[in-house]
Amino acid sequence: MADPLVIEQARVFKARVLLREEASTQALVSRWSQVEQALGTHVDALVNRALAVSAGQRIPVSVLYHLERYQEFQAQAIDVILAYQAYAEGRIDESVRSQAIFGITDGTQLIGIQATPFGISFNILPVDAINEIIALTEIEPVAEVLARMAPLGIGAATQILIQNTAMGINPRRTAREMFAQGLSQSLNQAVLVNRDLQLRAYRNGSLEQYRASGIVDQFQRTATKDSRVCPACLSKDGERQDVADLMALHTQDRCSVIPIIRGLPEFTYTNAQDWFAEQPPGVQMEILGQGRYRLYAAGQATLSDFAAVHQDPTWGPQLKTVPLNQLRRN
Ligand SMILES: [Zn+2]
Repeated sequence: MADPLVIEQARVFKARVLLREEASTQALVSRWSQVEQALGTHVDALVNRALAVSAGQRIPVSVLYHLERYQEFQAQAIDVILAYQAYAEGRIDESVRSQAIFGITDGTQLIGIQATPFGISFNILPVDAINEIIALTEIEPVAEVLARMAPLGIGAATQILIQNTAMGINPRRTAREMFAQGLSQSLNQAVLVNRDLQLRAYRNGSLEQYRASGIVDQFQRTATKDSRVCPACLSKDGERQDVADLMALHTQDRCSVIPIIRGLPEFTYTNAQDWFAEQPPGVQMEILGQGRYRLYAAGQATLSDFAAVHQDPTWGPQLKTVPLNQLRRN
C-alpha cells in the first residue's frame, strides 16, 4: 500500500534538507584546503626537527613545547584555524537560518496537504518567529562550540607527531597523518556542528509551525528509512507525542516530524518494522551491526529493544542505540 501524501511529501522535503546540508558541508570541506596549504611547510619543518631531537626516543611534551619549530607551528595553526572558524561560523549561521525557514514553510505545507481538502484553516507562524527558532536550536552558541576546533586539531596532530617520531616513522608519512588524522579533527568538529544544527533548525521550524497552527496537538516521528538509519531511530519510527513536548534526539538525527491534524481520520503508512523486515539481510546487518542482527534474526530481540532515552539537562531527551553488552544482559 502506498504511503499517504503527507508522508511522501515529508520524504521529499527531508531529501532536500539533506542536499542543502551536503552542499554547505562541501563548502566547509573545500575551504579547509586553505588551512592545509598554509600549514604545509610548518608541519614539514616541525616533523624534521622533532625527528632530529627525538633520536629514536619519545620526546617529552615539555621538550617539544620548547622547540622553536613547535611554537611556530602552533602559532600559525591557531591563526589559520581561527580564520577558518570565522568563515565556518558565518556559513553555519546562514545555513541554520535558511533551514529554519524551510522548516516553517515545509511544515506549513504538511499541515495544508491534510487540512485543506477538509476545509480546515490554520494559523501560519510569522516569519519573525525565526529568531526564537534559532535560539531554540543554538542552545550553546555556535562560536562557543567552534572555539573547541583549534585545540582539538592541534592536540591530535601533536599526539601523532610524538608517537610517530618515537617509532621512527618517515617524515612524509608523519606529516600526512598529522593532517589527515590530527588537524582534520578541527574540520570534523565544524562539519558535525553544521550538520546537527541544520537538522535541528529545520525540525524546530516545523514544530513551531505546528504549535502555532491551532489545529495540531501531536506529531508523528518518521525515520529516514535507508541503509544509514540507526536502530534507535527505526525503533522510534511512528511514535506520536504532544507538540508541546521535547523530542528525543541523537546528534545528526534525520527523523522527520509529521503533523497530526486534530479530528481527521487516522492515516496508515509503512512502519519501520515492516520496512525493516523487507530489507535484504545485508542491509539489515549494516543497520543493526552484527551482534544486534544475530539477536534480531534469531527472534531474541525486536527493533524496540534497541532504543534508550536519557535526559540531558541542557539538550533535553537524548536518544541512544542500546549497546550490545547491555542487550545481552537483559
Ligand atoms: Zn538515528
